[in-house]
Amino acid sequence: MQNIDDDNEGVAKCIMCGKPLAQLEKVKYRDWWAHAECAQKGLEKQVDQFNRTPFILGSA
Ligand SMILES: [Zn+2]
Repeated sequence: MQNIDDDNEGVAKCIMCGKPLAQLEKVKYRDWWAHAECAQKGLEKQVDQFNRTPFILGSA
């Protein structure tokens, strides 16, 4: 018997904290997904680097 963990497949992870994303609170930043809260925190800290690049709300 071989149990393969496929939980990671098809599940986006937050680029900020690395935890799986809930469907209701994920936002897309370029090609990456992140929690809405994590994304906001990241923007607050790195607002200068990101130059206020707008996040795309993940509406599914
Ligand atoms: Zn997160």
